[in-house]
Amino acid sequence: MEKKYIFVHTFGCQMNVHDSEKIVALMENSGYESVDDVRKADLVIINTCSIREKAAQKVYSQLGRLEKLKSKKPELIIGVGGCLAQQWGAKFIERVPYLNLVFGTHNIHHLPEFIDTIEKTGVPVVKTEFHESVKSLGIPVQSRNGRVSSYVTIMQGCNNFCSYCVVPYVRGHEESRNFCDIVDEVKTLTANGIREVILLGQNVNSYCGTNGSGHDFADLVQEIGMISGIERIRFTTSHPKDLSDKLVNCFSAVDKLCEHIHLPVQSGSDRILRMMNRCYTSSDYFDRVDKLRTVCPDISITSDIIVGFPGETDRDFQATIDMMGKIRFDNIFSFKYSEREGTAAAGLGDKVSECVKRDRLRMVQALQERHTIERNRAMVGKNEEILVEAISKNSREDMAGRTRTNKIVNFKGNYELIGKTISVTITDAYLHSLRGELTKEEVIKC
Ligand code: SAM
Ligand code: SF4
Repeated sequence: MEKKYIFVHTFGCQMNVHDSEKIVALMENSGYESVDDVRKADLVIINTCSIREKAAQKVYSQLGRLEKLKSKKPELIIGVGGCLAQQWGAKFIERVPYLNLVFGTHNIHHLPEFIDTIEKTGVPVVKTEFHESVKSLGIPVQSRNGRVSSYVTIMQGCNNFCSYCVVPYVRGHEESRNFCDIVDEVKTLTANGIREVILLGQNVNSYCGTNGSGHDFADLVQEIGMISGIERIRFTTSHPKDLSDKLVNCFSAVDKLCEHIHLPVQSGSDRILRMMNRCYTSSDYFDRVDKLRTVCPDISITSDIIVGFPGETDRDFQATIDMMGKIRFDNIFSFKYSEREGTAAAGLGDKVSECVKRDRLRMVQALQERHTIERNRAMVGKNEEILVEAISKNSREDMAGRTRTNKIVNFKGNYELIGKTISVTITDAYLHSLRGELTKEEVIKC
């Protein structure tokens, strides 16, 4: 049989990255091979994101480029999956008539059947139904290219309905995956050389095991912590309102749980947090951060911040700046508020102008750069345990690994170190990475 090639372009968050890995794994089982050059592809899948307008625009630009390719190669199959596909459904084909496939966030596991139908009939397929089961969560993804870290989906959807956010509408309501299935997947990954797992969900703190035993997320972390072969556990994302003391205590009780938490705060103003339907106050958030730093003094804390939510005054914005000054995050993702159709905030008046949003975003980012550098410089001279991941992107002479606090360290070393946990001394600190050198003990071992 003639070999066929798939090219996947991914927009958006880690969930989408992991969904794309599942798409590739499914199509590889159906005889396709993944390629990096779109011109070689017989099948192109765009895994879309609709969290902000900018993300959606990028998808349409990418599809515009593909139209030219399709005019030269009419047999090319082009499909869109992910959040924008879920939102638009059949309307996507009206807008982009050369599309062959639109599939929703709950339909990934049917992809080979969809492609088979299109290959046989040439008729476009649109499938965006939400299913009750979580079948697409457990699609096995092989560890490839000597990777040492792997995502593991533990749940899908979200019940929180933050007033600005489209996720509950495009990913459906929250569903947790079976506890034993997750543990089994992690065991299989270790057998394939994976040393670190990143547990994924929109709100991992509300994980609730579906095997009738009522296991919560802290139980899951503890269980995975007992699997030999796994050296590091990470997770994302945590909602501050559901961050239990039991989970916080895992940062000291479970050795393998890395000292990093991504805890999106969104705003420092209680008025805005209320309008966002976040269900915590700034003081609740400070309390959670204090607790984390008491249990685990070296923990790195990262966050998400939205500027320019409708009605955000200078005073509200100042509360965000003040909060950043008090907490001194290791890093943040910061966004201008983007109105999403169908969300509760889309109906709010008192919109903040683009120009004010832009200025506020710049201020937040400039302040964060100062804090990131300050936190990174505080690590200079310290010995850090790093898991070596790959050859460095900066120089082929260097290797790159991550500290337990999730900071990238570049250092001189050889590729045989990939997959090993080693000790380095931090010698320099930059905004996006650290520089290190092998400790004397490591040099002797090498
Ligand atoms: N579930 C995670 C949580 O609530 O912590 C976050 C998921 S969302 C994919 C990632 C981030 O995108 C959010 O934390 C928020 O800061 C940002 N975001 C979501 N909707 C947005 C919107 N309409 N405009 C701007 N930023 C938005
Ligand atoms: Fe969106 Fe809020 Fe759910 Fe996060 S918790 S995915 S921001 S609705």
